Amino acid sequence: MSDREDVLREIDRNFDVAVNKLLELIAIPSISSEPSGEADIARAAEWLKAELDAIGLPAKVVPTKGHPVVLAHSAAQLGLRRPCLLFYGHYDVQPVGDPAEWKHEPFEPRIVEEDGVHRFYGRGASDSKSQLWTFVEALRAWKSVHDDFPADITVLLEGEEECGSPSLPEFIEAYREELECDVAFICDAEMWSPTQPAITTQLKGLVHEKVTISAPNPDLHSGHYGAVAANPIRILSSILAGLHDEKGKVTIDGFYDGVSDIPENVRAQWAELAKEPTLIGDVDLTGGVTEEGYSSLEAMWGRPTVDINGITSGNQGPGERSVLPGSATSRLSFRLVPGQEPETIRSRFRSHVEASLPEGCRVEFEGAGGSSAVMLSQDSRFLKASSRGLEEEWGMPPVLRGTGGAIPLVEQVNRRLGAECVVIGFILPSDAIHAPDERYDTERLRKGVRSWVRIFEEIQSHAEV
Ligand SMILES: [Zn+2]
Repeated sequence: MSDREDVLREIDRNFDVAVNKLLELIAIPSISSEPSGEADIARAAEWLKAELDAIGLPAKVVPTKGHPVVLAHSAAQLGLRRPCLLFYGHYDVQPVGDPAEWKHEPFEPRIVEEDGVHRFYGRGASDSKSQLWTFVEALRAWKSVHDDFPADITVLLEGEEECGSPSLPEFIEAYREELECDVAFICDAEMWSPTQPAITTQLKGLVHEKVTISAPNPDLHSGHYGAVAANPIRILSSILAGLHDEKGKVTIDGFYDGVSDIPENVRAQWAELAKEPTLIGDVDLTGGVTEEGYSSLEAMWGRPTVDINGITSGNQGPGERSVLPGSATSRLSFRLVPGQEPETIRSRFRSHVEASLPEGCRVEFEGAGGSSAVMLSQDSRFLKASSRGLEEEWGMPPVLRGTGGAIPLVEQVNRRLGAECVVIGFILPSDAIHAPDERYDTERLRKGVRSWVRIFEEIQSHAEV
């Protein structure tokens, strides 16, 4: 017991150093989706490798077709049979957007005191550099007190999460053996509220699709031909409008095949949570349509959806141009639940569009890949240990929540490697994730680091022999 107190004291002793190092990392503009970010991505990867090396986790920077992965392992302890824990985080960040919308410099973080809270602002401050720093600092503190890690450790830090993790499947396939673990802790998720932690146990899958409808002719004079020729915008918008019926159900044939209804016990859990709707927070839902028969949380976490993300065609210029456009394009995304496969949904959508196409018009589709939904077991011993650890630190049990979002790695690790995943994070919607003035605070960082130490302790004291 006193050892654990020693680790918590070590976190306090080193806290200023840990915060300053984190600010150094946030100052590196490791934007993964812009070509100009490449050199900084490489710099961030090398910076992390050096930090992991320094705490006794020899690391390598592994090149991929896209951005590199930083991969580290603790040295094998001969004769010790103990679990292997993998920690996942990502070091790439979203683009800044319009710099004029930022009150703080996106890559010059420093601590500012606001109403007694010590905050720091910067792109990546919450998503996800502080997140990965919670477990790196916890591992460092534990090692410095015990001269050993709490288990065999693998750390995987990705550099292209913010652009859809395109190289991840290939990387996982190639490094299968090195990635074998008993549990993967995915530290890229939100808390339930500023005072209550959460473990995410249900994640949706994701499919993107682009559809272009072309008329038999290129652009035409709308006065001459508007009354008689096909208008791709009209055709496309009618197909898009018909994707949902008046009850909010998706009309694509076979869309719900294989989908089981949300289990009663899960519905009951979520009904409890919905009593304090912190998740929806400041978002005004007026005018939105929720599938009939489901609450907002059930629709967000447990029901499949299709969303129209964009439409382009015809006159987009500043002046009038009376044109009958030659083509119209839309981008859509599907959020999947267990039982739905990305390729099946894609082909059902394509058949649906083809069946609605008037004679003489053509359709082209673009899109590949995607991820499936994941439902994680609530019975896992690692999830239970994590629950106890989080409760000890925060004084409240974690909420077992779902999310409408996807974390591609969870599906990869869970399905391809067959490892358990526990999805924990310490960020909040109010951190301005992906928005101007993204922020985080030192107190949550400290509690995040301490949470991991308590989780390590729980895993050790309940180890199966
Ligand atoms: Zn993000």
